[in-house]
Amino acid sequence: MASSFHSLGIRASSPRIEPSFTAIVEVATEEDIQQAINYANRCDIAFLAVAGGHGWQSTINNANGGIQIDMRKMQQIELNSNGTVVLIGGGVLQRHLTQTLYRLGKQAVTGLCECTSIIGPLMDGGHSVLQGFYGFVADNLVSARVVLASGEAVTASATEHPELFWALRGAGHNFGILASFEVKAYDLPKTNWTIVSVIYTQDRLEDFVDALNDVDSEGDHAPELVLAGAITRIPAFDTVYPVVAYQLSYLGTADEVEPYVARFRQASPISVTTAENVAYKDYYIATSNGYNQTACQKDKNISGYAISLRKYNKVAIRKTFGYFSNLTADARFNTSVWLLESYGSRGVWAQNYSATAVAPAERNLPVLTVPITWWAGNSTEARQKAETYGKLMRGALAAGDHETSNSSHVYLNYAIGDESLEQVYGVENLPKLQALKRRYDPANKFGFYMPLI
Ligand SMILES: Cc1cc2nc3c(=O)[nH]c(=O)nc-3n(C[C@H](O)[C@H](O)[C@H](O)COP(=O)(O)OP(=O)(O)OC[C@H]3O[C@@H](n4cnc5c(N)ncnc54)[C@H](O)[C@@H]3O)c2cc1C
Repeated sequence: MASSFHSLGIRASSPRIEPSFTAIVEVATEEDIQQAINYANRCDIAFLAVAGGHGWQSTINNANGGIQIDMRKMQQIELNSNGTVVLIGGGVLQRHLTQTLYRLGKQAVTGLCECTSIIGPLMDGGHSVLQGFYGFVADNLVSARVVLASGEAVTASATEHPELFWALRGAGHNFGILASFEVKAYDLPKTNWTIVSVIYTQDRLEDFVDALNDVDSEGDHAPELVLAGAITRIPAFDTVYPVVAYQLSYLGTADEVEPYVARFRQASPISVTTAENVAYKDYYIATSNGYNQTACQKDKNISGYAISLRKYNKVAIRKTFGYFSNLTADARFNTSVWLLESYGSRGVWAQNYSATAVAPAERNLPVLTVPITWWAGNSTEARQKAETYGKLMRGALAAGDHETSNSSHVYLNYAIGDESLEQVYGVENLPKLQALKRRYDPANKFGFYMPLI
């Protein structure tokens, strides 16, 4: 066995989710994973794979007392000979893949933050700055080596275990541990990125929302354009209220993005700054999603109450802003961020919806929004306050959406754990997913991330 075994390990998946593991097994091969699962099954102990350690669902806490299967030694990245497919280890993080492929003149569809794994986002869809071109991360999966609950290892692809392959792309956490997997690789484009950052004070909130809705066009915009940002506290711009800090990223020149920026200028930002000629390998740090930047922090508690929308409702945004402002006026919560993400939908809509288990609503609703609350310490009162405000904010956003999409859909990877299965998996896919779950994992060994049964 190439793995190393730490009895009484105390390293949790992340300080934010703290199942207290009895042991941590650092696996290095597929056989190691099999042995770890076989051992856990023999002893009837729960087990949980950990790759990036950024999962925030409360259901992960049910792995308490179990064995952590630490994937972080599974770091292989191998491009095939014609450069179209890359084999990736089950513990590879976004930064490692992006930097490695860049040196080879390639890129792949991944999540944004450098610190999450490739596989974590992929298994529930995976939102990406490249999704406007190539669909979700999951749409790019070619095959996977999966260690099942029984300890058996199989290949899942369009031709081998095709139903498992379908389920991995939308509900993968429920079906096995992916030792390695293959995704499509693409040539790096000849152009670099332009990143325009705009800041608004709260008195411009409604004007900003109008501009955002106009430019986003319910997801139907050029794939070169990526819209993402947050409402957060930046005392340099406003010492009393949170501000809107938004970014338009464009695969192209400043002149090419200017027509979109012009619409945002009409909403009277307090600041506009532009970074030009940003190489793809530097994109994530330039947009503050780098491995050592705040978005990747793991030293605080986190709670996020997400909802997916067709577009933003001004009344709902103002009401939610009031809650967010009140919450973050409490210094314990003042680094929190309310994410407003619209990565573009054309590449997502172009996929065959029934080819994967990604919820149709995930494809149809172009706006992802989640007020993320961060705070330090173990106070029960602080956790309750974060949760109370989280629910209020999601409720306000959902109520506002009744006029547009009547959505209650929540992106599975942004779910907190109190959502219904229909909300995250979609009514269309749930029966088939549950039938497959009963076939592949009847004892619900993979039951710590929105368990299907
Ligand atoms: C800072 C941050 C940035 C994010 N950015 C994005 C983004 O850009 N796009 C997006 O779509 N989502 C994003 N998310 C959400 C993200 O998809 C989920 O939090 C995801 O679960 C993180 O995966 P991880 O490997 O980092 O976390 P982990 O906590 O290690 O894993 C999460 C779940 O995946 C399971 N798992 C881990 N490795 C494997 C494996 N090899 N095989 C099978 N199961 C495994 C774990 O058991 C756990 O259930 C982000 C979250 C955070 C906190």
